[in-house]
Amino acid sequence: MTMLKEVKSKGLYMGKLPHGSDLLDEITAVCSQNQVRLGRIEALGAVRQARLGYYDQNTREYEFFILDQGLEITNLVGNVSVKDGQSMVHAHITLADSAGRAFGGHLAQGTKVFACEFVLEVFDGPAMERDYDEITGLPLWKDG
Ligand code: ZN
Repeated sequence: MTMLKEVKSKGLYMGKLPHGSDLLDEITAVCSQNQVRLGRIEALGAVRQARLGYYDQNTREYEFFILDQGLEITNLVGNVSVKDGQSMVHAHITLADSAGRAFGGHLAQGTKVFACEFVLEVFDGPAMERDYDEITGLPLWKDG
């Protein structure tokens, strides 16, 4: 059954991440430091290197890979919720090289910012908490 909860926009913020920062860690820190526990994020810019994950549905484990080159962030989309009592950012990213070839995946620690502009929307609403999901092996939002 589909889970559906109503949320309301509480605020919209725009910002720029520091050069050389870790993309996922920095977005997570922005959320933690501002008590954001429910929201969404989008961003664009460029990275010096990327580390992305691909979830193998058979082994139920993430495979991580590194793209060791400067790439454009053509899209980053993510949500903010709660895992183990902490703000958690779940984001996917699409990156492009000098020929416009695209790479994508689950944003992991190890992606270094060259330049990044983001929009963060904060929501008011029921807590969305992550918990281990037996079927997928992933930390998904709890039902109810
Ligand atoms: Zn993911």
